[in-house]
Amino acid sequence: MNLFAVLDQAATRFGDRGAVYLGNEQCHTFAGLRDRALRLASSISANRDTGARIAIASENRPEIIELMFAVWAAGCAVVPINFKLHPLEMAQILEDCRAAVVFASPKIAGGLAAVTDVAVENIESPAYAARLHTQPAVPAIVDPGALAWLFYTSGTTGKSKGAMLSHRNLMAMTVAHLADFDSPDENSSLVHGAPMSHGSGLYIAPYILRGARQVIPASSGFDPEEFLDLCGHHPRTSCFLAPTMVARLLATGRPRPQNLTTIVYGGGPMYLDTLKKAMATFGPTLVQLYGQGEAPMTITGLRKCDHLSGDGLADDAILGSVGYPRSGVEVAVLDADGNPAAVGEIGEIACRGDVVMSGYWNNAAATSSTLVGGWLHTGDMGSFDARGYLTLRDRSKDVVISGGSNIYPREVEEVLLEHAGVEEACVVGAPDEDWGEMVVAFIVGTAAEADLDAHLLERIARFKRPKRYIYVDELPKNSYGKVLKRELRESVR
Ligand code: AMP
Repeated sequence: MNLFAVLDQAATRFGDRGAVYLGNEQCHTFAGLRDRALRLASSISANRDTGARIAIASENRPEIIELMFAVWAAGCAVVPINFKLHPLEMAQILEDCRAAVVFASPKIAGGLAAVTDVAVENIESPAYAARLHTQPAVPAIVDPGALAWLFYTSGTTGKSKGAMLSHRNLMAMTVAHLADFDSPDENSSLVHGAPMSHGSGLYIAPYILRGARQVIPASSGFDPEEFLDLCGHHPRTSCFLAPTMVARLLATGRPRPQNLTTIVYGGGPMYLDTLKKAMATFGPTLVQLYGQGEAPMTITGLRKCDHLSGDGLADDAILGSVGYPRSGVEVAVLDADGNPAAVGEIGEIACRGDVVMSGYWNNAAATSSTLVGGWLHTGDMGSFDARGYLTLRDRSKDVVISGGSNIYPREVEEVLLEHAGVEEACVVGAPDEDWGEMVVAFIVGTAAEADLDAHLLERIARFKRPKRYIYVDELPKNSYGKVLKRELRESVR
């Protein structure tokens, strides 16, 4: 199945209804969106091989949606690029995937054209407008295993790699989302707070399929006040947000907009303390996903109801976990020999199912070390409990090994965050002559070292306590809101 069918079916059923909104204003109906996508498709497929990579480099804008469906209708693969990357980093991706063309927003086009040989087309140019006057294409027939989306990982642990996602992978993700997490209909909306090159963009398909509207903030970015206004204005709103974005919504002090029904959070650790505050403000709208570019949005999760128990919240073990396997996905925790770990034993998380990528673009070595015996090795460490909930520890590269003991930074961070004088915390390992590595905590907040020491000693083992605290104004984050641990680690090497 070509993913374009998702829009085609919605346009047949909901033709006159609003499909894409910029702020409060309707841009296109479903029929209008299909028409634009098919016209763009015929201009894209002219003189182009099936399977060509077509890149998009833009802050959140309505054009991203028409371009994605156009690329699929043309039988090509879309390469959404994180708009916050440096032009040289974007150029590397374009070169790596040998993109045929990159559609870029006016903010990006000029700088990018100066550093790449790939054709850059400004989406506000006359050339783009002319494409919309070509004859609509007949959608290409593609193999479900064909490349649909080349997903460049956010590179928090190294150089960005292109995870090859097929039409089948994205349909598996779409179906699992609708089965497990949300049931939008033609009276629902998806509000794009997070970058559409990543999680928010992956969710376009399930919401288009059900005839829900796509809402893009007029600022093209994430302004918590604007975002909450939009969630209140549009009907039955859903969104995907990184945990740090949920914390920014909470910082506004505003109550839940009545129409806001689903906040899917994930893509990075949600600390228990923040989750409890979010539950108090947003009520049972929260859904957790654990996924990665290689198994988009879909490894394990917690539904809305899993956050609750009786009249109150679920217990901390559940709230602190990443839930249980999603529909259509098998999940295992493997010990050092690659065998299933015992309950409670920490090992590498692996998964398999239709959602798992077919490999990394042009990188056989990374593919063969990541896809082993049909399993995707996630690089994340975790353990299952007796009830089947998976708790994520840290990425294997983030674990601190001090005096031969494994220290999971997440555990120390959780406890630090319970202190009222700590706004943000990030724990990394630094080289130490005696211990191999020592624990270093970066702190945003006002709590004194001695208070933090006392606070930790009451709650966790002495050897896990940071040997050094470094106070900073803010933690370095990538544009998806993920803390750049690598950068912090390098700063203490
Ligand atoms: P990316 O491929 O850039 O989406 O990054 C995926 C990584 O983010 C995963 O391998 C995890 O390390 C982390 N991650 C994703 N979801 C969660 C979650 N719910 N809780 C904690 N970490 C997560």
